Amino acid sequence: MARYAIIGFGCAGYYGAKAIRENDADGEIVVFSEHMARPYNPMLTTYYAAGKIPYDAMFPFGSMKKIAGELKLQVHTGTKVLGINSADRSLQLADGSTEKFDKILIATGARAFAPQIAGLDAENTFYMRTLDDAQKLKDAVESSKYKSALVVGASMVGIKVVELLNAKGIKTTLADMADRIFPLAAYENVSKEIERRISAKGVQLALGASLRKCEKAEGSWLCTMSDDSTVQADMIVLCIGTRAATELADGNIKVNRGIVADSNMQTSCEGIYAAGDCCEGRELQSDEKMIIGLWANAAYQGMTAGANMAGAKAEFDGNFMHNITHFMGMDFIGFGDNRKTGKVITSGDITQGLYVEAVISEDGLVGVNILDNYRISGAVKNYLYRIIREKNAEISPVQRGILIKEGLRPSFIEKMEGTYNG
Ligand SMILES: Cc1cc2nc3c(=O)[nH]c(=O)nc-3n(C[C@H](O)[C@H](O)[C@H](O)COP(=O)(O)OP(=O)(O)OC[C@H]3O[C@@H](n4cnc5c(N)ncnc54)[C@H](O)[C@@H]3O)c2cc1C
Repeated sequence: MARYAIIGFGCAGYYGAKAIRENDADGEIVVFSEHMARPYNPMLTTYYAAGKIPYDAMFPFGSMKKIAGELKLQVHTGTKVLGINSADRSLQLADGSTEKFDKILIATGARAFAPQIAGLDAENTFYMRTLDDAQKLKDAVESSKYKSALVVGASMVGIKVVELLNAKGIKTTLADMADRIFPLAAYENVSKEIERRISAKGVQLALGASLRKCEKAEGSWLCTMSDDSTVQADMIVLCIGTRAATELADGNIKVNRGIVADSNMQTSCEGIYAAGDCCEGRELQSDEKMIIGLWANAAYQGMTAGANMAGAKAEFDGNFMHNITHFMGMDFIGFGDNRKTGKVITSGDITQGLYVEAVISEDGLVGVNILDNYRISGAVKNYLYRIIREKNAEISPVQRGILIKEGLRPSFIEKMEGTYNG
């Protein structure tokens, strides 16, 4: 009977365990999770912190008892794995013991990036990654102690934090080193429009500068930015990004920015697999290996790893950049690498209603931003995905119907496809 270890029980760990069980009914699956909670969805933590969903809604797979029962798992919560010996596939546990396995899945995710900033202390700094981070922010916001905040990181996570603070009447400044919001997903026009809208809702912007130092000033913080401008804030929330949790990889398991894995999700060491935010995946448009950092990506990687660990054959070829987010009364959707250039086409009024900005290169559609209509996102995403994979893909009649129903002109759809002759 095979013995499998899963280190980390988030999205990738859960789907890894599920795929192992689907392909090996009898194997022993041992799960190690450093915290006490069941697997949760980190993207729901901001909704919990904002008081929009109850605590239980953050756990998409149900109770630990249900998960462990259905998948026949031995789950060790509160058990941090301290090291992996890749030579004999053994794990070092915090109590000093070691355990050997036939196959190991590293699904340790990522941790919020916490740079050293002069003057900043841990107690007064907030992050947004874990359940504990969400609880700390929720408690702080509900304490009514904080009247102003600086959120660093104009990312999808940063904007959700800004939204919840702003909704509680906390005077919020959003800062980023980049000179615009969503620099990795939005086109410049769209960034500017989002900035205009959130400024109109009372959010201050401090873009194009990083946080350099913080000094205590009458119970609050005087934050000095790299351009010497200052922001007064009672709380500081760092949403600067994440770092892959790769520390378990011993010298034999290859690591770049994340753990390196092949399309079967096997690392450079036979029998040791990696999945989710701890490892690199293939970005389909650039064909580069990078950390993808998306829930669906972690799920597919976990499923692929689990199936292969249990002797089935599975491959995951990769993913492309996509963001779908709703905040402060608007929808923003960004598909594709926003650095790719080509002919820019637009549809609609950027200030209201459905607005689409698309970039068409010689190979066809390479990127799309959509404002204020999530209903067309499925059709557009599917079309872009097929172009990336098959090149000469067409928008299907059903998808065309959805796009027209939601307000896109047939001529604009033809421009997206590169077939417009008008
Ligand atoms: C605020 C926020 C918003 C997001 N929004 C979106 C979104 O809108 N759309 C989207 O697609 N994605 C979003 N994401 C990203 C998405 O949640 C992640 O890509 C996904 O959850 C990664 O899953 P994972 O299993 O790889 O990692 P994780 O969920 O981080 O799970 C890893 C687990 O491993 C545990 N662990 C680590 N080291 C050890 C160890 N040594 N021993 C034992 N256990 C260990 C950790 O405690 C953790 O529980 C968001 C993330 C955040 C934080």
